Amino acid sequence: MASNDLHAPERDFRHTTTDSISFSFKLEEPKNDILLQPAQSVIMNILVYSAKGFEKPFLDAANTASYSIDYIETRLTIHTAELVSGHVAVFIFVNDDASAAVLQKLHERGVKYLLLRSAGFNNVDIPTAVQLGIRVARVPAYSPYAVAEHAIALMLALNRKLIRANNRIHDLNFSLDGLTGFDMHDKTVGVIGTGSIGSVIVKILHGFGCNVIAYDEVENTDLVSRFGLKYVDLHTLYTSSDIITLHVPLLPATKYLIDKAAIAQMKKGVMLINTSRGLLIKTKDVIDALKSQHIGYLGIDVYEEEAGLFFEDHSEDIVQDDLISRLLTFRNVIVTSHQGFLTDTALRNIAETTFANLNCLVSGSKCDNEIV
Ligand code: NAD
Repeated sequence: MASNDLHAPERDFRHTTTDSISFSFKLEEPKNDILLQPAQSVIMNILVYSAKGFEKPFLDAANTASYSIDYIETRLTIHTAELVSGHVAVFIFVNDDASAAVLQKLHERGVKYLLLRSAGFNNVDIPTAVQLGIRVARVPAYSPYAVAEHAIALMLALNRKLIRANNRIHDLNFSLDGLTGFDMHDKTVGVIGTGSIGSVIVKILHGFGCNVIAYDEVENTDLVSRFGLKYVDLHTLYTSSDIITLHVPLLPATKYLIDKAAIAQMKKGVMLINTSRGLLIKTKDVIDALKSQHIGYLGIDVYEEEAGLFFEDHSEDIVQDDLISRLLTFRNVIVTSHQGFLTDTALRNIAETTFANLNCLVSGSKCDNEIV
């Protein structure tokens, strides 16, 4: 287990049982809002699952209350839940498993706070957490720009065949054959989900001169009046769009939104972008459509079987996942490893909001980011 050396003195408390953990708050009224001004003297042991080197400096910097933090690279699963003993708070990320059985194990080992370093919380069984008294909070928005800009990067890289062009040039092949793209200007782009990330997408595409249409169960009138966005039903979006980009959360209603039946309604040669959640797309159906060339381009930052695959170096392994293997054979497919959020601004915001959420929950205050 890799520990945070900066906070060595607090490690003495690591094996303190939850019963004997003391929460001593600064009693003076802080000048700033509690979200910005953490309680300075709380003794708190935190276990960070799925901790990666790129985020540790941001979490350390945001730990202004000097809580004791242990970082582990492993994901939270039913098997690794044992590791929480001695920790009251657990920080998790998108591919950690906080299903009912895992939460029960965390509860038995004294965990009281579950902090998501993400916006999506489809990996947490919220009713069970509530029933067990584990308080859960998330980071609802840390940088919609980070994810939206990554989605646009996928669109442009696919359209202008940047990966292929770069590989070719490194082989001293300066030919342009096979690299023809299309103007984004005047193309119709269908945005599914116009919340925080989808809204940024609409604004960027409006700047490109695209004809932007959208589907969402809640219409954003500001996007309509300022950017000429037109809301349409899903069928119209599928039949009209040259590019379709997904920005709805994963819910029972959105699981496998893009399947064989949806693809059948799309234009031949459509570009499909998914930076939202892997299970929005039925990968097998998309592979069939790539083979038949009904889908002309695919850019995904998320994959339905990404847990245990993404964020890790598997370069020495034999790939067991036939779907991802097949996807990687198409030259009109770009896969990134759930890195849409990965900007310095987003990492700073995630770290600061996660600690602000913890301070808020521990203080007993109402926490806007709590999920109940
Ligand atoms: P948001 O909550 O601000 O927006 C979601 C939108 O989807 C809302 O406008 C909502 O009305 C709409 N919606 C929900 N259910 C719907 C349904 N059944 N039909 C139609 N519309 C529906 O969320 P956001 O911050 O824009 O994030 C969108 C998703 O992006 C997240 O849920 C998450 O899965 C994903 N995400 C990915 C990354 C990454 O690194 N790739 C990072 C952050 C978020």
